[in-house]
Amino acid sequence: MRSFDYIRPSDVPAAIREGATGETRFLAGGTTLLDLMKCGVELPARVVDISHLQGLGDVTVDDRAIRVGSLAKMATVADHEDIRTVAPVISESLWRAASAQLRNMASIGGNLMQRTRCTYFRDPAGYANCNKRVPGSGCAALDGLNRNHAILGASEACIATYPGDLAVALVAFDATVRIRGDVERSVPVEAFYRLPGDRPDLEHDLAAGEMIVGIDIPVTAALRRSHYLKARDRASYEFAAASAAVGLDLEEDGRTIREARVALGGVATKPWRARAVEAALVGHPLDEASLRAAAAMAVEGAEPREHNRFKVELAPRVVARALMTAGGIA
Ligand SMILES: Cc1cc2nc3c(=O)[nH]c(=O)nc-3n(C[C@H](O)[C@H](O)[C@H](O)COP(=O)(O)OP(=O)(O)OC[C@H]3O[C@@H](n4cnc5c(N)ncnc54)[C@H](O)[C@@H]3O)c2cc1C
Ligand code: SF4
Repeated sequence: MRSFDYIRPSDVPAAIREGATGETRFLAGGTTLLDLMKCGVELPARVVDISHLQGLGDVTVDDRAIRVGSLAKMATVADHEDIRTVAPVISESLWRAASAQLRNMASIGGNLMQRTRCTYFRDPAGYANCNKRVPGSGCAALDGLNRNHAILGASEACIATYPGDLAVALVAFDATVRIRGDVERSVPVEAFYRLPGDRPDLEHDLAAGEMIVGIDIPVTAALRRSHYLKARDRASYEFAAASAAVGLDLEEDGRTIREARVALGGVATKPWRARAVEAALVGHPLDEASLRAAAAMAVEGAEPREHNRFKVELAPRVVARALMTAGGIA
């Protein structure tokens, strides 16, 4: 590990000023950043500690929106009584992430900024060729072990999956991320994450020095009837092989779908909204056949590699099962 300057600003404006200087990283819970510094992926010259800053840890819920400060802990949001009632998918996506110890330490802002778990990306000593780490160096995963890699949204430069859970739920329900730099702006979470294209090293819509200060989630009927399902190799402490964040709003008859929300995790290079599935569900009855038929569209355009073909079959099953659970017919 190379040496770096540690800076502890007194308030948010000071942190943003410090963050805009040189090769700087914010430090919140440290559960991602310190790992990546130890394995040599992140080599910041300066680390700006924001973990103690006041005013960024609040969580409020009313009839119109959920507002979560970026320094709120994953565990706090997962356990929040009102969020469990109004937005089960948000609570469940956090509950199924990482471990209890990590959730107690990790922040919501840091969670959104976590980086891929691609083994080649995280092993600079073993693999020189990773376009995400070193643009133009190649991609070891294309012809390597790519079981955990993306079947959607990939490019010839990078096929790494976005690994997180919460952002999948946020994308399904049109959440926005509040960002503060010279000015404060709000960006849909879906647009916050970039596709890899030929610059997989550029992952987010965030300029140097800009800080995530919170997320806002509109409260809707579909959010109240929502669910997060995560298929993975073991029951806890594991990233998704395929996951689905879904929500349903039903007509007065209680069996016709008025609105559907669907996003996928574990299969794409960014949290992946499945609008074709949503459109195919509207006006159809809430029954297993309709849900499975629509869920098949979740992997439209998929480009599997040698070891991840199983995701083409797994993802629609996860979507269908999640919809059945949300609809109360599982
Ligand atoms: C073993 C293990 C298993 C895990 N399993 C899962 C899982 O199943 N699902 C899942 O979703 N996650 C999982 N995670 C990831 C975990 O959720 C993240 O490590 C955590 O949320 C990061 O939050 P943090 O506060 O510790 O961030 P930090 O490590 O402090 O920061 C992470 C990154 O975000 C930047 N950052 C932090 N806060 C801000 C801010 N406010 N504005 C701008 N940039 C910011 C930092 O500069 C850094 O680049 C796992 C992690 C580990 C180590
Ligand atoms: S998939 Fe992306 S992160 Fe993994 S080695 Fe290739 S370029 Fe690097």
